[in-house]
Amino acid sequence: MKVKKYQADNMQEAMLKVKSDLGSDAIILHSRKFKKGGFFGFFAKKKVEVVATVEPEPATDSKDSKELKGELDQMKGMMNNLMGEIQKSKEESLAVTGNPILQKVVEALLNLGIDYSTAQDLARKIVKKTQGQVDDAEKLQQILKAEFENVINDIEPIKLEDDKTKVVAMVGPTGVGKTTTLAKLAANFSLLEGKKVGLVTADTYRIAAVDQLKTYSEIIDLPLEVAFTPQELTTAIDKYQGYDLVLVDTAGRSQNNQMHISELKSFIKKSEIDEVYLVLSATTKTSDLKKIIKVYTELEINKLILTKLDETDSLGIVFEAALEANKPLSYVTVGQDVPEDIKLPESKELIDDILEGLDL
Ligand code: GDP
Repeated sequence: MKVKKYQADNMQEAMLKVKSDLGSDAIILHSRKFKKGGFFGFFAKKKVEVVATVEPEPATDSKDSKELKGELDQMKGMMNNLMGEIQKSKEESLAVTGNPILQKVVEALLNLGIDYSTAQDLARKIVKKTQGQVDDAEKLQQILKAEFENVINDIEPIKLEDDKTKVVAMVGPTGVGKTTTLAKLAANFSLLEGKKVGLVTADTYRIAAVDQLKTYSEIIDLPLEVAFTPQELTTAIDKYQGYDLVLVDTAGRSQNNQMHISELKSFIKKSEIDEVYLVLSATTKTSDLKKIIKVYTELEINKLILTKLDETDSLGIVFEAALEANKPLSYVTVGQDVPEDIKLPESKELIDDILEGLDL
């Protein structure tokens, strides 16, 4: 706000000054009479002082009022929609918490290894689809099945191409079964399908890991290359020209080790890897699974492999993994035996297996 002081010989003159300077919208804040000059109070001149201001112009940001009104109406509409949605979701949540059957559904989903927020979401969807009439267990199962089908829809194998070597890398935390899975795949493609398969291990962090794959490669009778650097990985892959499939094993360290992830990233980026499969164990805690997926999806994952399905009845983690990673599922493994304990399930069959453990 602009505040200015004016002095004049009389009020009329002061007002003229204010008007010519600030315009006729000026507001007088204060005025006083005083004496100026003189000698011991004699011969002093009477003066007037006026303090005035003008209200600042409203900031229109060069938009006219019609435009502003339009924007305001739009915002009002958005707010109303938002409030409506909040209210609806509040009502749906209340319908979940206030309904013992839905509480049971949430509990059963949690027992299946499904995350609490996912379980709540699923229960809310049930409310929506049944308009709150949720007393039919079969209907509940049907709705859940449909929701699972939305997430687990296409289950894809490693697709080989006729005139190209397909290079596939397995990544994931230590101990989930990467090497064993790779050996199972290698044996199936080479022994059962008659494909030319080469192996590379970039899992040189643990001596035991190299030995483990070496043993498998000797049993299946497949060549194995060891790569300590991204450059060596490129050279190793180049050696397999004319092969149908090259399977690359990588080191799995803690998902908390950022250095490891950047190292892996550079291995994958600098070599000619076509597809990256994230290997996850079905025995992982849901909260850990979310962390693992968050870290590993930095690597541009193509598909997911779920291992150790034989070790748990809570197969909900398979759904949670597909939902969280938003990637297609591929193979699942169901035991330690190479090569037989691996399969490419039908999505319907897998969903039935998962929901079989649901105790409603
Ligand atoms: P990596 O560290 O990810 O390479 O894991 P490994 O391949 O060394 O496997 C770790 C352990 O999990 C080994 O004892 C495997 O036999 C075991 N394993 C791998 N896959 C499965 C599976 O599907 N079911 C069970 N029960 N054990 C498995």
